[in-house]
Amino acid sequence: MFFLAFAVMLSGCAQKDNIPDDKIKAVTTIGMITDIVENVGKDKVSVQGLMGSGVDPHLYKATEGDVTRLSEADIIFYNGLHLEARMGEVLEKLGEMKKTVAVTDYIGKEALLDFPAYPGQYDPHVWFDVSMWISAVEKVRDSLIDIDPDNGEEYGNNAEHYISQLEGLGSYVRSKAGEVPEQQRVLVTAHDAFQYFGKAYGFEVLGLQGISTESEAGTKDVQDLVNFIVERKIKAIFVETSIPERNIKAVQEAAQSKGWDVKIGGYLYSDAMGDEGTFEGTYIGMVTHNIDTISGALR
Ligand SMILES: [Zn+2]
Repeated sequence: MFFLAFAVMLSGCAQKDNIPDDKIKAVTTIGMITDIVENVGKDKVSVQGLMGSGVDPHLYKATEGDVTRLSEADIIFYNGLHLEARMGEVLEKLGEMKKTVAVTDYIGKEALLDFPAYPGQYDPHVWFDVSMWISAVEKVRDSLIDIDPDNGEEYGNNAEHYISQLEGLGSYVRSKAGEVPEQQRVLVTAHDAFQYFGKAYGFEVLGLQGISTESEAGTKDVQDLVNFIVERKIKAIFVETSIPERNIKAVQEAAQSKGWDVKIGGYLYSDAMGDEGTFEGTYIGMVTHNIDTISGALR
């Protein structure tokens, strides 16, 4: 049913007339990519992000409305590295007829971390290393210049401005991370989204669920994590906005029953940003919120 609808829509959208403005129409998956395209495209590009605040990209399936938006787009930006696991088939089909861009394309394989559950695949959560996300900005810039060379200079200038903001962000994260004593630099979260963060800024990272949220944490995972928290006297663990908090709460209760009062250090934005129109609803805001929350709770 879904693919029938999909095929009908694709065949019906060969000519993109009736659209009054001359903006490039971009469709994006996660909010962090939407933010890049808005910052680089500014008023030359209209952007529609499919996944809002609190949405888990690992589990997200394209709705019929999404398929319409995707099929009408001039260009589609997605993360790649199997982050949008359940949209893979749709993106692949669209890639045969229009420009689809994985923003992680410029990141060299040697910089990527393994995805232990799936040999040969890589951890997709690259946005938590700000320098890696800068390369995503460069990929978006070059792709927009490619399909709209007339406005190339503007895309180049916009990207340069945004990248300089991100460089400032990277320095901020590094200095806040440095405020946490080395033995306290352990980040325990609901799922394994923060390995790149840990590698870039010197934290040991443990997630209750694996890198994808598709597999539920087993009893043994919970026990191992609880033992680790108690033995290492971890001060705080964190919930994530795109994942139900009950699992992390269960870890907290289990640690408390073993006599170690671990706190919930706050909520982190992992795979989705905050609400639109708020500071946390931007990439810079989400990363700032996270490092402030982490360093505040572990210091
Ligand atoms: Zn994730």
